[in-house]
Amino acid sequence: MVNHKINVFEIYELLPQINCKNCGENNCMAFAQKLIDGGKTVGGCSPLRESIYEKKRLELENFFGLTAAKEQS
Ligand code: SF4
Repeated sequence: MVNHKINVFEIYELLPQINCKNCGENNCMAFAQKLIDGGKTVGGCSPLRESIYEKKRLELENFFGLTAAKEQS
């Protein structure tokens, strides 16, 4: 349920931008595109669960819904 158009760069801005590959993508930009395409959910980015990224995570969850809850590990 995306409530307004958001582009890949805006998504990228909300990701940790550390390109750690924990999500299975080569970098955060690729993950951002997968989020838009529906191939990944916010919960796929494990660093995003760290408290320093909480504000960004909440913003992403607002855009994409609470999909993070589906992917707990
Ligand atoms: S897990 Fe998160 S921080 Fe790491 S590359 Fe993927 S999107 Fe970027």
